[in-house]
Amino acid sequence: MEIKVTKNPNPAAKPTDESKLGFGKIFTDHMFVMDWYRGKGWENARIEPFGYLSIHPASTVLHYGAEIFEGLKAYRTADGKVQLFRPIENARRMNNSALRMGLPTFDEDFFVQAIKELVKLDEDWVPHGDGTSLYIRPFISGDDEGLGVHSVAHARLIIILAPSGSYYAGGLAPVNIMIEDEDVRAVRGGTGYAKCGGNYGASIRAGERAEHKGYAQVLWLDGVERKYIEEVGAMNIMFKINGKICTPALNGSILPGITRKSILELLAHQGVEAEERLISAEELLAAAENGTLEEAWGCGTAAVVSPVGKLAYKDKEYVINGGKIGPVTQKLYDDLTAIQWGRAADELGWVEPID
Ligand SMILES: *Cc1c(COP(=O)(O)O)cnc(C)c1O
Repeated sequence: MEIKVTKNPNPAAKPTDESKLGFGKIFTDHMFVMDWYRGKGWENARIEPFGYLSIHPASTVLHYGAEIFEGLKAYRTADGKVQLFRPIENARRMNNSALRMGLPTFDEDFFVQAIKELVKLDEDWVPHGDGTSLYIRPFISGDDEGLGVHSVAHARLIIILAPSGSYYAGGLAPVNIMIEDEDVRAVRGGTGYAKCGGNYGASIRAGERAEHKGYAQVLWLDGVERKYIEEVGAMNIMFKINGKICTPALNGSILPGITRKSILELLAHQGVEAEERLISAEELLAAAENGTLEEAWGCGTAAVVSPVGKLAYKDKEYVINGGKIGPVTQKLYDDLTAIQWGRAADELGWVEPID
């Protein structure tokens, strides 16, 4: 399918102070939009000036949460080029999310092509500073105009771009997280593995409570027994216990992170063993107490790798590695970011230049 391009006649001034970019507050000059109608499929793929959407007040997305999204980044390398990190993985995951939510699937190669064309057009918006990137947010919304509950007959796939600052403005730093024992994020058979807005809607309350108590994020337990570790708000979680790296196995309620997958593949490539298995909170906290919980880190596109300095559970705190960044955590952060920003050879074939 051809992508029709309408250039923005009034491009915005690009931010001059990259230290003030923050996350998801500033948007580029263009966006990608494509419509889907049942019986017709996808049509009218276009890049147009960034702007407000027109939406019917009875639109499905506003009432029944017919929405899925993705998140990836474009990185500027030292020689000024722009590259993506495993965009086909985002395409695949988004199609899996679409299937779960009764939204239309799409051609995965075309999705990557659309991202490339959009980023290419707004290439000058990709920031240059250390750790900065262009955040890419594709999403699909159900846009039927009516209050009946059923799978959608009209949907839109939209891609917007937001130049974003370094996640660690002051350098890689440990965060403190709270194990949530009241609310749950997802259950097996539910939508936990889909990247959908509804999962986030249900997580806000616990996140606020954690923040109020001084913790950066929530660590979710399984939705049935509230016994097993699942993941952090928008990151997967990994541990080094007694010399061995482990992470909760994907079970249907955990979001299959591309950073998680990349770390596991990178470790295998480096000959380091890692386990995907059930990890109970009990095991974890006992390991924290007897000193065998050597490291803990979250992993996701935004932060890449986020060291955990302290875990809290039922008002008790457990300090990990003296609250400092562990060597495995640091190495994974260094190794992955080196690939993403093009400082290291791309031995696993993960980066894709935009042209
Ligand atoms: C997006 C997301 C992640 C991380 O996935 P990446 O592909 O690594 O960015 C983890 N958990 C949740 C709930 C997410 O939405």
